Amino acid sequence: MIDITLVNKFYGNFQVLTDCTTKVRKGEVVVVCGPSGSGKSTLIKCVNALEPFQSGRIIVDGVDLSDPKVDLNRLRARVGMVFQHFELFPHLRITENLCLAQEKVLGRSHEEAMAKTLSLLERVGLKDHAEKRPGQLSGGQQQRVAIARALAMDPVAMLFDEPTSALDPEMIKEVLDVMIELAQDGMTMMVVTHEMGFARKVADRVIFMDKGEIVEDVPKDDFFGKPHSDRAQAFLSKIL
Ligand code: ADP
Ligand code: MG
Repeated sequence: MIDITLVNKFYGNFQVLTDCTTKVRKGEVVVVCGPSGSGKSTLIKCVNALEPFQSGRIIVDGVDLSDPKVDLNRLRARVGMVFQHFELFPHLRITENLCLAQEKVLGRSHEEAMAKTLSLLERVGLKDHAEKRPGQLSGGQQQRVAIARALAMDPVAMLFDEPTSALDPEMIKEVLDVMIELAQDGMTMMVVTHEMGFARKVADRVIFMDKGEIVEDVPKDDFFGKPHSDRAQAFLSKIL
């Protein structure tokens, strides 16, 4: 579903990604971890075409991102993205937040978009909050809205960038539970997170990044079980 080959990216002279290569197959859940500044956010932004890269290739659901003919807005709609800060439209109601892109990008009728919206709000446990604005919800609820908004586009894959790191501890579980359910339903997911409980539960593979490189890309059990690189071990010993 996501095929990343030898991707290199620079900010000016600074190389932020070096020869990054990995694949996420349909239905797979891949957790990406690593120290702050190692390039995790940049890598997933490249997958969603939010950041350009200088060399290498990324193919998402058969679409080559470097192909100048590709409609990037359409591609972004096909790959759901959930950020650390929920990035909801503060002046719009929750239903409007979910309907907007369905109508503007996918051309759904308002009725169709609304039906989808309500069923997704039900799925993330927020049907009773449908007509509120984001500021009236807790951080955990807002993040669940952000997940529902991404799902409203019927994405082929979902990318998450530290979706729980801005949340108070008591709200982390409600967001992880939604993500776990999504994973168990077969969604293809690439998740930047340090929530190793989540990784243990649903990840198929764990990628460990350091200094812009993919240092490890191994099945979950290998990551938590067998010895791995010094760098990953040092990192794990700090967070576990
Ligand atoms: P991570 O998500 O793993 O913390 P990032 O992908 O955000 O890492 O950043 C990787 C590196 O790239 C960091 O050194 C960061 O300072 C640098 N960086 C990120 N965004 C920019 C930018 N827009 N311009 C210049 N440098 C950046
Ligand atoms: Mg980051």
